[in-house]
Amino acid sequence: MLTDYHVHLREDEDRAPPEREAFTSANVERYLAAAEEAGIAELGCSEHVYRFAQALELWRHPFWEEQARDDLDAYCDFVRTTPLRLGLEVDFVPGAEDRTRNLLEAHDLDYVIGSVHFIDLGAVDHEGWDVWMRQGDADAVWRRYFETLAEAARSRLFDVLAHPDLVKYWGPKRPRPERDPRFYYEPAVEAIAEADVAVEVSTAGLRKPAGEIYPASRFAEMCVDAGAAFALSSDAHRPDDVGHAYEQAVHQMRDWGVERIAVFEARNRRLEALG
Ligand SMILES: [Zn+2]
Ligand SMILES: [Zn+2]
Repeated sequence: MLTDYHVHLREDEDRAPPEREAFTSANVERYLAAAEEAGIAELGCSEHVYRFAQALELWRHPFWEEQARDDLDAYCDFVRTTPLRLGLEVDFVPGAEDRTRNLLEAHDLDYVIGSVHFIDLGAVDHEGWDVWMRQGDADAVWRRYFETLAEAARSRLFDVLAHPDLVKYWGPKRPRPERDPRFYYEPAVEAIAEADVAVEVSTAGLRKPAGEIYPASRFAEMCVDAGAAFALSSDAHRPDDVGHAYEQAVHQMRDWGVERIAVFEARNRRLEALG
C-alpha cells in the first residue's frame, strides 16, 4: 500500500490564480487524479495550522499573524465532503501544549502531523525568518532543533512527526556541525520510541536545497532499531508533487528494513504492507 497524507491543497505564498482556489471539489479532483496516477491508495490533506485564524490562539508569531486567514471549521467541513482523509500539519509550539490539545480535540481529524519549523522565532526552512541569520552556530541550531523535535514527540499531540530532520533544509548553503549527526539524532529517536509516534519519510527534501529525502539514512536506521513506525508522504503543495519520487522512497525504506507503513483513520493507526 502507498499513502500520501502530508499534502497541502493551498499553494505557498498565495501564488495560485482564482481558478485554482484551494478548497473546491475541482481542486481536490486534480489531487485525486494525481494520486491515482501514482498508485496511491490513501490520500489525505494536512493544511498548515497557521493558515487558520484559530492558530493565533496557539502562537502569535508575526509570520502566523500574516498567514492566519482561513477558517479551520470550514476546512474540516469541506474535506469531509471529499474522499480525502482529514489531517492537519501542526507546529509544535513549546508552552502551548494544552491549547494545542484543546484545538485538536475540537475537530474530528483522521491524523495530526507534528512539525518543528521554528527554533524560537527563527525558521529552519523559511528565508524570511531564517534561524541562521539569528544564530549562526551549527552545533547550537542542530542541538536545539532535535531537542525540540524530542519535546514534540513527548507531547503526544501528534500521530506523525513531519520531515524529521528539516534542519538540513538548506543543505550545503548553511553550516553543518562537525560532530557525527547521530549525536543530535539520539534524544529525538529516544523520544520517538517512547511516545510511539510515527516518523515521516518525506520526499519533499529532494525538491529542496537539501537534495535528499527526510530523514537521512542514519536517522532512519536509528528509528528502525528503536522499533518506530513510519509514514510516507510527499508534502505536495500542488498536484504534480503528489507521490513525488515514491519509487526512490520505497526503495530506500526497504533498504532501511521498513516493511510496513502507517495508515490512519479517526486518529487510530494501523500498519499495512509497504507497496
Ligand atoms: Zn512542514
Ligand atoms: Zn507541509
